[in-house]
Amino acid sequence: MQISEKSVAGYERVLFGEDPAAGYRGIIAVHSTARGPAAGGTRFWNYRTQEEALEDVLRLSRGMTYKSALAELPLGGGKSVIIGDNKTADREKLFRAHGRFVDSLQGQYTTAEDVGTSPADMEYVLKETTYVAGLNGRSGDPSPRTARGVFRAMQAAAKHRWSSDAIGGKTVAIQGCGSVGFHLAEEVHKAGASLVVTDVDREKVERVVSAFGAAAISPEKIYSVRADIFAPCALGGILNDQTVPRLETEIVCGAANNQLLEPRHGDLLEQRGILYAPDYAANAGGIISGCYIELLGRDLQSTLKKIDAIYDTMLAIFELARREGIPSYQAADRLAEQRSAKP
Ligand code: NAD
Repeated sequence: MQISEKSVAGYERVLFGEDPAAGYRGIIAVHSTARGPAAGGTRFWNYRTQEEALEDVLRLSRGMTYKSALAELPLGGGKSVIIGDNKTADREKLFRAHGRFVDSLQGQYTTAEDVGTSPADMEYVLKETTYVAGLNGRSGDPSPRTARGVFRAMQAAAKHRWSSDAIGGKTVAIQGCGSVGFHLAEEVHKAGASLVVTDVDREKVERVVSAFGAAAISPEKIYSVRADIFAPCALGGILNDQTVPRLETEIVCGAANNQLLEPRHGDLLEQRGILYAPDYAANAGGIISGCYIELLGRDLQSTLKKIDAIYDTMLAIFELARREGIPSYQAADRLAEQRSAKP
């Protein structure tokens, strides 16, 4: 493994790893270890250039610092990318090479699965380093916990908006009935709200319709359906110039990462009087669960208590936004920056 390091302003470490015998090329970015070891998954993607991969790993690792800081976890932020075709069948050599690269940081960075990688890939990483989480049979499927956190964020948004955190009697529109969407629908249904749901996969929609009596609509109509809360639980970038003007909702609160196509779409939501629950604050249930159960060895009860505290973080964000007269996405960043300096 050939490793070279580059100095990048604002980042503690940026390393490039290459192992030609394994067909491996990757980058690890450690944005911050101020709160604890940097944690963040491994993304496996066919980047067109090394610059594109670098830009992604820098952006993602900084995002991890913010996410963990906001959730007040004893973790810093990092991320790694492997450059190549993530459908490749020859995974052992590649992920073992990645494991050696991760191990070279001696615990400054802990990895896990992300886009293009799976718990099975992390088993190969484990053969070379102990600095890996998200393995089969450890903290388990994070999506019910992520959904719980999003539900708590929704309650906080309701409290801020309507002075009551009761979701019962409201209509919630969910985009994406996958792992998180399904469990979120369950929480919302249990709370007594009506559901309108969509997915590009008909079977996923059917499951939520039959389990929770949801109404189904087409993927395109989800942006203009009249609902109290819109919960994006599918893709990123769905809050953009085309969709924000069409929204007929008072709150946007969902699990999808990077919902705002650009920061200015957060301003656009604000101008339209729509309360936006910043995505990385709302969807922290998964990382909280991984951190508490796998890294800190805590029990389920204290993990769930910590996830429930997303409610307080979200209220603090909305309060800061109101006090400073700034949009909620900026308030979240500001609070995360304050918290990222503190252990
Ligand atoms: P998933 O793949 O299980 O579900 C996503 C669903 O969205 C799929 O059913 C898919 O068919 C659907 N979909 C795709 N394009 C769509 C479209 N245009 N319109 C409607 N539906 C569409 O993924 P997931 O684990 O449920 O994650 C959902 C989102 O939440 C992702 O953005 C993910 O990054 C984010 N997230 C997930 C977790 C977690 O614990 N799983 C944690 C944090 C963030």
